[in-house]
Formats: sequence, C-alpha cells, structure tokens
Amino acid sequence: MNLILLGPPGAGKGTQAKRLEEALGLLQISTGDMLRAEVKAATPVGLEARAIMERGDLVPDGMITAMLASRVSQPDAAKGFILDGFPRTVPQAEALDAMLAEKGIPLDHVIELNVDDAALVDRIAGRFTCASCGAGYHDSFKQPRVAGVCDSCGGTELTRRADDKAETVAARLAAYHRQTSPLLPFYGAQGKLSAVDGMADMDVVFAALSKVIKP
Ligand code: ADP
Ligand code: ADP
Ligand code: ZN
Repeated sequence: MNLILLGPPGAGKGTQAKRLEEALGLLQISTGDMLRAEVKAATPVGLEARAIMERGDLVPDGMITAMLASRVSQPDAAKGFILDGFPRTVPQAEALDAMLAEKGIPLDHVIELNVDDAALVDRIAGRFTCASCGAGYHDSFKQPRVAGVCDSCGGTELTRRADDKAETVAARLAAYHRQTSPLLPFYGAQGKLSAVDGMADMDVVFAALSKVIKP
C-alpha cells in the first residue's frame, strides 16, 4: 500500500502519517523532516534549503525530487510508504509518476486533508515536536501527559520549528494554494483522490483515513 497525504501546512499530515505507520506497518516519508535533517547537519542541500524554508517558499523541484527518489529506493520503502509533504507541485507529481512507473511501484490512494486556513494558523502556532523521536504535540490540542516530557520516548527536548512563526505561515499557505492545490485535479483525473475532513478530532480523522484505505 502506497499513499500520499495531501494538505496545507498544519493540516495533520505528519500526525496521521505517524498513526498509519504504526497501524499498518508503512514507512512515513516526510520531505520536510528530511530537509530539516539536512539543515541540521549543514550539508550542501541543507545550506541551500535553509533560507528558502525560513521564508516559507518551496525548495527547487529538482532538489526535492532527487532526495525523494533515493529514499523510495531504500529497502525499507518496499513494505509500502506514506508520502507526507511530497509532491507539492505538478512537476514533482509528474516526476513521482515517472519514478514509480519505472520501478513498477503502484500508487494506491491520494488523500486530501481539508482544514480551514484560520484553523491552520492556530495549529501551526501551537505545534511542537520531540527532538529525539519526532512525536508531535500542540499547546492546546495535544499536550504531553507530563509537561515537558515526550509521551513516546521520555525525551525532554521539545522543539519548535523555525518556520512555524506567524510571519512565515502566510507565505506557506500562499505556496500551498498557488503551487500545491493544482495537484487535486491532477490526481482527481487519475481517479486516485479522496478527501477527508481534517477539522475533526485526530481520532475521527484517523478513522476516516482508515476507511478510505480499507473500505
Ligand atoms: P508543513 O507540513 O508544515 O507544510 P513540511 O515539514 O512538509 O511543512 O515542510 C517544511 C518546508 O520544507 C516547506 O515550507 C518547504 O520549504 C520545504 N519542503 C518540504 N517538502 C517540500 C517539497 N516537496 N517541495 C518543496 N519544498 C518542500
Ligand atoms: P502537517 O504535517 O500537515 O503540517 P501536523 O501533523 O504537524 O501537520 O499538525 C499540526 C499541528 O496540529 C500539530 O501540533 C498537531 O498536534 C495538531 N493537530 C494535528 N491534527 C489535529 C486535529 N485533528 N485537531 C487538532 N489539532 C491537530
Ligand atoms: Zn520522543
């Protein structure tokens, strides 16, 4: 089973991808997480991507497509994957189709998480993450059971993303509407697109996603 989760920043793609990973044994592939790792390690890709990410723009298609191609080719992707944050432009989607066709890998579902822009701003402003294991939290919607301690791994380094600030969010939402939303008709035309109400509680969203995948 190979899936794409599509949706604007803060829609809940990462949250749901982690749940699907656990429930179905699929591999989450988050291009945002991969880029943040490159930035942290100060690799050539990271050095180029850093300023672009901080202003809320998309990194160049060629850079991200090469990164994705090498990740999908690794053995752990053979069990099935969930793409979280890729593709984000029509050229990326075309490159993905070509890559999958060449490797004989099917794409089973593309699922859109629908969330209002106003709710996205709140979600992004309150988001924080465990630096050790990547578990996601929110100031209002999902606090750790013990303040300052990760539920999943006990880690105590909880971090906020450099781009999750109010000034950048508008640019990221604009990039979504302008560059990523054309993927909805693109995948609609392939008959692969479903939509799930991402405004609901996390458990309700998860149940709706599960139903699309296993009707
Ligand atoms: P969110 O889920 O909040 O939108 P991500 O973690 O997916 O954020 O991405 C963070 C940033 O990384 C994006 O704003 C963009 O600069 C860059 N990025 C991630 N994936 C892609 C992609 N597929 N194409 C271009 N840029 C990307
Ligand atoms: P994305 O990967 O699409 O950018 P995240 O999964 O990181 O989004 O979610 C953004 C923030 O919103 C996180 O702090 C997360 O805990 C919270 N969140 C995710 N899904 C929901 C939901 N259904 N209701 C309320 N908050 C949510
Ligand atoms: Zn943790």
